[in-house]
Amino acid sequence: MKNIKERIKQLKKKRPGYGEILDFYQKVKEAQAQVKASLQINPIKLKKEWKELLSKEGFSLIQKEDFPLDVEASAKLFQSLCQIGKDSNPHMAEQVGKIKEALDNKKIDLKNLLKEGGKEQRIEQVVNEFGLDKKVFSFLIESSIKPSIAAGMEKLRNELDPETWLKEYCPVCGSLPSLSLLKEEVGKRYLLCSFCGYQWRVERLACPFCGNKEQESIQYFLAEGEESYRIELCDKCHQYIKTIDYRTLEESDPLLEDLATLHLDILASQKGYKRPIPNPWTS
Ligand SMILES: [Zn+2]
Ligand SMILES: [Zn+2]
Repeated sequence: MKNIKERIKQLKKKRPGYGEILDFYQKVKEAQAQVKASLQINPIKLKKEWKELLSKEGFSLIQKEDFPLDVEASAKLFQSLCQIGKDSNPHMAEQVGKIKEALDNKKIDLKNLLKEGGKEQRIEQVVNEFGLDKKVFSFLIESSIKPSIAAGMEKLRNELDPETWLKEYCPVCGSLPSLSLLKEEVGKRYLLCSFCGYQWRVERLACPFCGNKEQESIQYFLAEGEESYRIELCDKCHQYIKTIDYRTLEESDPLLEDLATLHLDILASQKGYKRPIPNPWTS
């Protein structure tokens, strides 16, 4: 948490326009860090033969819904995040008001919703029923289960070799990546799972979504004076990924770096490219 705070300070100085959203991010991270210490996560049992078969066939170890969750802690965190949202801006405050009302009248079964790990379909239902902003509600639910998901992923980390999987989806949970990271002198490329946060290595010069390797159909751009971030555009699938180059940037929270470079996502979308897992902060 100390490093995140330091980095947020630096970023705010560099990009004052991001001040408000960075303050919000810091509060969310603090609330998540608080529940981390007391989380109760059941062990995840994997049969050895099953595991071998899965990796041979290219399946992930588990599925998103198989992560054990601490529902009590997630529900508590949900309440804290609602409070943070309420204090941060009028739109969030309005949304939180509606959510609270539905919760108080027992119209939303929060614990059940969390237990289902924020299933898209269920979220959609609730959002439609109560006229909520899907982005806000999904964010609150996802951020509430995040500490449990991260703890589950940590339990599985040693079951895998991040260097040898090389596929476009996460070896732990099968989700798509949200970011790409370049590390070490030689520029090894890793993808960051959008759901569980696991990092695994992939080929350096290929589109991480469609596998396109033709260099003439992959372009990239970066913002002036920000050589540590770049957007890689694929003309085969018209999607893009943001790459954070940790060869020129001190180690930091990739999601924070993602948030502080929203301007690059806006440029990419103006050029007509999509991000399969959108930056949660773009509207
Ligand atoms: Zn994953
Ligand atoms: Zn592609």
